[in-house]
Amino acid sequence: TTAFIGAIEAARGLNAYITETPDLALEQAARSDARIAAGTAGPLEGLPIGVKDLFCTKGVLTTAASHILDGFTPTYESTVTANLWRDGAVLLGKLNMDEFAMGGSNENSYYGPVVNPWRRDGDSAALVPGGSSGGSAAAVAADLCVAATGTDTGGSIRQPASFTGTVGIKPTYGRCSRFGIVAFASSLEQAGPMTKSVRDAAILLGSMAGHDPHDSTSVPLPVPDYAAALTGDLRGRKIGIPKEYRIDGLSPEIAAWWERGTAWARDAGAEIVEISLPHAQYALPAYYIVAPAEASSNLARYDGVRFGLRVPGKDLTEMYENTRGEGFGKEVRRRILIGTYVLSAGYYDAYYTRAQKLRRLIAGDFERAFETVDAVLAPTAPSAAYAGGEKADPIAMYLGDVFTVTANLAGLPAMSVPAGLSSEGLPLGLQVIGRPFDEAGVLNVGYALE
Ligand code: GLN
Repeated sequence: TTAFIGAIEAARGLNAYITETPDLALEQAARSDARIAAGTAGPLEGLPIGVKDLFCTKGVLTTAASHILDGFTPTYESTVTANLWRDGAVLLGKLNMDEFAMGGSNENSYYGPVVNPWRRDGDSAALVPGGSSGGSAAAVAADLCVAATGTDTGGSIRQPASFTGTVGIKPTYGRCSRFGIVAFASSLEQAGPMTKSVRDAAILLGSMAGHDPHDSTSVPLPVPDYAAALTGDLRGRKIGIPKEYRIDGLSPEIAAWWERGTAWARDAGAEIVEISLPHAQYALPAYYIVAPAEASSNLARYDGVRFGLRVPGKDLTEMYENTRGEGFGKEVRRRILIGTYVLSAGYYDAYYTRAQKLRRLIAGDFERAFETVDAVLAPTAPSAAYAGGEKADPIAMYLGDVFTVTANLAGLPAMSVPAGLSSEGLPLGLQVIGRPFDEAGVLNVGYALE
């Protein structure tokens, strides 16, 4: 813990942490030492981790990287982080992210952008770490924690994992409790671990997951021993390659790593099957209707009365307007506007209802595919890390989510594992998508590819 506290101080230029909690970490670590000495150590005893600043942590500032949550110190703990402390983990601090988890480059944080510890060969220019869990990914890649928590609404664990050469898994919708996680799009998001290895991800997920009576969408299923499932043996398993993911303009380099990954799965004993997900092409537009719709509803609670920032006005309405106008960043305001529009009378059926129908069709595509195959293999993202400001056009940014949003719309477990390096020396990830609640199978495919 002491070593990590020093490393975090030395790497403040990455801007990975919003809040550092060294005193709390040392207290927790001392208690871990005592439990280890007493022979009562938990499975994560003494492991110093970072937590995305979207998880409520009792007594520790929680910002969601938004100005509107200024000074918000929760009086309760999220279930996922409570599970980690129960098992002995130590909190090093709260990690930077895109404001309210909206973004794919970590440039939307009120606390400033996060710097990717990776550089292009022969070039010192700073690159984005991906997003929205960019602080988590950068911190894991730069050894500023053993592991971190992330959340994934449309790819925010997997894409930053791909950009930083780390491992990240979004479990099945309902596997982890969302209680105490600041809500963006409730029907899409899940918490998950971001780690250096598939084994670490398996161990951490085992602690984070489980039924929680505080979240009615968490499922009352036992949590398997994920680490025990890691054999790397894929004999008898069928892996599907979705032909629709060979999108126009897919970079030849990413296509090549995808083929190498396919060959590794075959070497591990898997049978490779080409599959079709005919509605996958509609996933991105459906996501960018459903996610803003839910965001506009979830973010209605930030009214200047109950949480954080209050900007006064001459009456209540003006106070709301001033608070929300100053408190929310540009991307968050854009999502609220889009969401309010697609939910408004007259447009609801044309946009929101149609997006929900597409969502059902996309889920149906996967249900049919999983009658034949055990897992799906695809790229995680259509590019490697890029320079800040490169995707200033929001549509260009949204296109970066093209391979990840399908799993959120269908509620399926999906992970990113590092495949290799691009010609510029930057990490690229491969994505494994699995059947509902088959995180163990997904992790094992990832383990074979790692
Ligand atoms: N990049 C996507 C978005 O901006 C996904 C974000 C996420 O998964 N939280 O909505």
